[in-house]
Amino acid sequence: MQRFCPSAMGQRNVADSFEATGLGVPALGAVAELGYAEPTAVQASAIPAVLAGGDVMVAAQTGTGKTAAFLLPMLDGLGHAREDGGPMALVVTPTRELALQIADVAHVVGAHTGHRCAVVVGGVGYEAQRGALQEGCELLVATPGRLLDLMEQGACDLSSVEVLVLDEADRMLDMGFMPSVRRIVEALPRRRQTLLFSATLEANVLKDIGSFVVEPAVVEVDRKGTTAQNVEQYVLGVSAEAKKRVLVEVLRREGAERVLVFVKGKHRADHLSRILAKKGFSSASIHGNRTQSQRQRALLRFANGEVDVLVATDVLARGIDIAEVRYVVNMDVPHEPEDYVHRIGRTGRAGERGWALTLCAKNEYTDFRAIEKLTAQVVPTYKHAAGLDVGQEPAMIDPARKVCAATSKRAAKRQSGNREGSRSRARR
Ligand code: AMP
Repeated sequence: MQRFCPSAMGQRNVADSFEATGLGVPALGAVAELGYAEPTAVQASAIPAVLAGGDVMVAAQTGTGKTAAFLLPMLDGLGHAREDGGPMALVVTPTRELALQIADVAHVVGAHTGHRCAVVVGGVGYEAQRGALQEGCELLVATPGRLLDLMEQGACDLSSVEVLVLDEADRMLDMGFMPSVRRIVEALPRRRQTLLFSATLEANVLKDIGSFVVEPAVVEVDRKGTTAQNVEQYVLGVSAEAKKRVLVEVLRREGAERVLVFVKGKHRADHLSRILAKKGFSSASIHGNRTQSQRQRALLRFANGEVDVLVATDVLARGIDIAEVRYVVNMDVPHEPEDYVHRIGRTGRAGERGWALTLCAKNEYTDFRAIEKLTAQVVPTYKHAAGLDVGQEPAMIDPARKVCAATSKRAAKRQSGNREGSRSRARR
């Protein structure tokens, strides 16, 4: 098994420019149209690995440029189907938003490489998707449930697939999609290239998905719990009942354009969005109860600046690419520390600077400390807190606190143990 390590820039198989990755002229034309000057770390390692032709497992968080890391080399080397032929490349991804986002990039790349892309996702009608499949495409981007439905209806022939991408594989596992994914994989030709992308390649993830790849090259870019380098993080201890007015005041002080606010529940998201609207902010909410078209509309309105503040649940925390989020406010401390990493990763993307503020109430302090332990860092106190009414009984954030050395060592040991585990499993 070959390992590709981005920190070893300049070594064999790690490219320091797009030209050096081995991409052909049409794909390089797409890179220029996408406006990418240099490959990100994951692209520098994954593109040569994918072009080498074998299976590849990539551990990379969202926001690292992983979409182009698989689309560029995949379409670069892909043949062309018959007019009405079935897809030769298949990308399976957990959410509709991710699928549409991947398809957006695929349309740009495909315009240069001469490939057609179709998308099949749930939450919308079947007819248009059946029609697109009948017309033929080289690349199909799909969510598992809808793809399986169409396969069962005989509307989707996957017998020509040469390359399979399992995107956000760990997330598909978390969301209970593995039985569907397994059935999809079983319907594919055995001779194929499989590219597996996951935020983590820990042993518990590989146990379920490691069997989809054969002697893979492994690309590891970000460790679990690694927060985006270009996001400044702050915390503010508040009373639970003071959170809304603190948020309003922060929006007034810091500016309310292009702000993403995370809350825990769907109802809280709607409620908060209504309150913000009453206070004069243009705001929309997005969560799992919304229909596909409502979610798309909210994202679009935020993307084109019609809406300033987007209030979201964790449905949006992973994978979604919203350009230029100026800052993120965590109204609630996420219970899962890993969600924090995904939430704040929505700002400071692709080299831009961003910042994130977490409002922490007393009963959330333990969860907040779990985040600090996972990310092995002490989050500084919000700099502009003077004069903010944080309520009667705010959480006391101990300024002298440390990230517990014993826990960090254990975490580090666990992480290196997991990486070792993935290596030995992959070798089999
Ligand atoms: P992804 O991780 O694929 O969701 O990409 C995150 C963001 O990075 C998207 O906005 C991409 O357009 C952007 N991006 C991807 N690759 C590059 C690159 N090489 N240079 C600059 N931006 C990039």
